[in-house]
Amino acid sequence: MSEKPPAAQAAPTPVETVVIGAGPVGLFQIFELGLLGISTHIIDSLPQAGGQCTELYPDKPIYDIPALPICGAQELIDRLLEQAKPFHATFHLGQEVTELQHQEDGKFLVATSAGTRLTAGAVVIAAGVGSFQARRLSLPGVEEFEGTSVHYRVKSAADFHGRDLVICGGGDSALDWTVALCGKARSLTLLHRRAEFRAAPATVARMRELVGAGKMQLLEGNATGLRTDNGKLAGLDVHTADGRDLQLSTGQILAFYGLHPKLGPIAEWGLELEKRALKVDTEKFQTSVPGIFAIGDINTYPGKKKLILSGFHEAALTAFAIQHHLFPEKRQFLQYTTTSPIMQKRLGVAAAADSH
Ligand SMILES: Cc1cc2nc3c(=O)[nH]c(=O)nc-3n(C[C@H](O)[C@H](O)[C@H](O)COP(=O)(O)OP(=O)(O)OC[C@H]3O[C@@H](n4cnc5c(N)ncnc54)[C@H](O)[C@@H]3O)c2cc1C
Repeated sequence: MSEKPPAAQAAPTPVETVVIGAGPVGLFQIFELGLLGISTHIIDSLPQAGGQCTELYPDKPIYDIPALPICGAQELIDRLLEQAKPFHATFHLGQEVTELQHQEDGKFLVATSAGTRLTAGAVVIAAGVGSFQARRLSLPGVEEFEGTSVHYRVKSAADFHGRDLVICGGGDSALDWTVALCGKARSLTLLHRRAEFRAAPATVARMRELVGAGKMQLLEGNATGLRTDNGKLAGLDVHTADGRDLQLSTGQILAFYGLHPKLGPIAEWGLELEKRALKVDTEKFQTSVPGIFAIGDINTYPGKKKLILSGFHEAALTAFAIQHHLFPEKRQFLQYTTTSPIMQKRLGVAAAADSH
């Protein structure tokens, strides 16, 4: 009997370009490549586009985006997504790029933690300060339960229905899920190290109402150990702020301690690094491997400033460099969006255009 190997990997999908990182600079790269008629697949380890703007300071105003005297960080991302729309990039979100390999045919194999495999003629690394990873519950033996009984993100809320649940943390995620799962979990305890919360005041108020109504428990303190029973998670040891040692019975823990950036696999791709940034030239923003480019906060060159507008400029020049890399025979010339019929056609703002 002939059997397929169980873990046989699907053949990679050939694409024109891959952008690693959907922060503001990666998103603008879609636009700049699109203007030149080049399509993009974009990958981010976060479940949504926006990079630092969305993850770290969505409500803060930015004052140094040209021609936008004031622009909210999330608003900037929404505008960049809108601007890139005509180019129909394919988004692969919630997956980290773990492998980047130069193939014999000169193309690059890009593989992600979710099993996506692409081959591309050029790759742009717009990975900012690295991929954001959940801060883990730092207790001995926790690795054994991660993904089954200890979670850092909710994949399906129904997994917690009817279970004894402890939620750890004091930010928006912890509070939003406390309110959403209270009444659905069999029992729910929110554990936070201090009395103040960083979440939206209305959600904190709702949580306190639920505590007042006896529907859940709020504990101020720290997790100190995991309890197991026959190899399964059975409970959590807690040292409370008022000095008590408690044992909570729980089979499920959701820990929301925030995210931290990690350069991670990028450091292993054989690209020249300087102080944890990718070295590039300032003509093409190409790394030490031809065909792999790096833009935005991840790159370094003399005079580099980690600003969004610097990343936008880098994306524009990189698009031209990629056009030359993919189609070396093609003559390059600068066109203005104001007057170029082909660019306007690509943007979807002109009914018909000739094709130069
Ligand atoms: C509080 C704060 C305020 C700021 N204010 C300003 C300001 O006023 N003006 C200004 O110009 N700049 C400001 N900045 C800096 C600005 O946010 C950054 O320069 C900008 O976000 C860089 O964009 P980027 O696209 O290069 O990277 P990021 O925004 O860091 O995005 C990179 C993305 O790549 C993803 N990624 C990384 N590695 C991988 C991988 N292996 N696989 C998949 N995905 C990956 C990450 O998850 C992330 O989403 C501020 C920063 C902070 C923290």
